[in-house]
Amino acid sequence: MDHLPVGRHPLKPLVVLGATGSIGTQTLQVADRLNAKVAAIAAKRGSEKLVGIALRYPNAIVCVTEPGEAADRLTSMLGERVRFGPGALTEVAATPGHTVVNGVVGAAGLRSSLAALYAGNRLALANKESLVAGGVLISKALADGGGELIPVDSEHSAIYQCIIGEPDSSVRRVVLTASGGPFRGWSRKDLEGVTVAQALEHPTWSMGPRITTDSATLMNKAFEVIEAHFLFGTNYDAIDVVVHPQSIVHSFVEFSDGVVKAEVGFPDMMKPIQYAITAPERVESSRPGFSIAGHDLTFEAPDVEVFPCLTLGYEAGRMGGTAPAALNAADEVAVARFLEGRIAFTAIADVVGTVLHEHQAYEPGDVSDVESVDREARARAIEVCTKLEMS
Ligand code: MG
Repeated sequence: MDHLPVGRHPLKPLVVLGATGSIGTQTLQVADRLNAKVAAIAAKRGSEKLVGIALRYPNAIVCVTEPGEAADRLTSMLGERVRFGPGALTEVAATPGHTVVNGVVGAAGLRSSLAALYAGNRLALANKESLVAGGVLISKALADGGGELIPVDSEHSAIYQCIIGEPDSSVRRVVLTASGGPFRGWSRKDLEGVTVAQALEHPTWSMGPRITTDSATLMNKAFEVIEAHFLFGTNYDAIDVVVHPQSIVHSFVEFSDGVVKAEVGFPDMMKPIQYAITAPERVESSRPGFSIAGHDLTFEAPDVEVFPCLTLGYEAGRMGGTAPAALNAADEVAVARFLEGRIAFTAIADVVGTVLHEHQAYEPGDVSDVESVDREARARAIEVCTKLEMS
């Protein structure tokens, strides 16, 4: 492949959803380095941080989904280019000829993912809920809209990079690596007294509070199993999880001839973000080189007795239809209650398990089906949390 000098690469303009979050911030750094045009940025609120970003990209459309009282102030500062409400988000995502980086946190990301794919855009996906809650719909949008779906999450980016160029039928098994979170090796009894501060202490990746908590319960890995199923068409029986605390091997793919590929490197989200934007090309990056000598790599089976959320993820995936949407909604509520100090860490799995096992899964016809399951599962999760609240 010819070397592509930075700035000469024919990159599509970027739409960065969730611009003030961790993925969004790093995407903008990658965009600057690649000299990619930033066509639009979006965030939930009109924070100082968003205004700062908007001023750095004076030609970008700025979308604020929940401006609240900041709307007038934002309009006076940014003028005509600021747009408000969730509709603004799907509108910029649906502008053809763009790469949409979806770093929105939460179920609100699904509509913009669908809009991007139906418009035939490249979707660089970091929003978990799109595939967990809306996998069935995303698969349909991908087939009907002619867009491209490239994962940003480190594990899925690794699998994507191992699989690219290989025939689909040659994939025997994918193995997602998991750091194991801060409570690896703990007993169920130990976990009962876990504090919020302990759960937010992730050993290798620095992320937002929901995903950090989900990493501590292994629910994040459960979601990634479901995402892998939709991204790569892999059966749940052919998706494994292995705990790898050093987070250097980002995932493995085993092929039909027994050959195993892996993508490895020190934890660094800039690399999968850049790859999702430039794929299948590689553009030179100034990220630190790979020097593995002196590092011990270890791998162990996950303890599903202590971390039942992983099993719940497989269960929801195999139930299919709307079950993963219910799983996700219940988890979001339970994690929020835990972070507020209202339920115990171990109650997260209890809440999610109760809601999932009560759920009657069906094939969602459109996004409103997913949203109504999301609402119902949330309402039920709140009831279950209230019963489990600590006094
Ligand atoms: Mg991950």
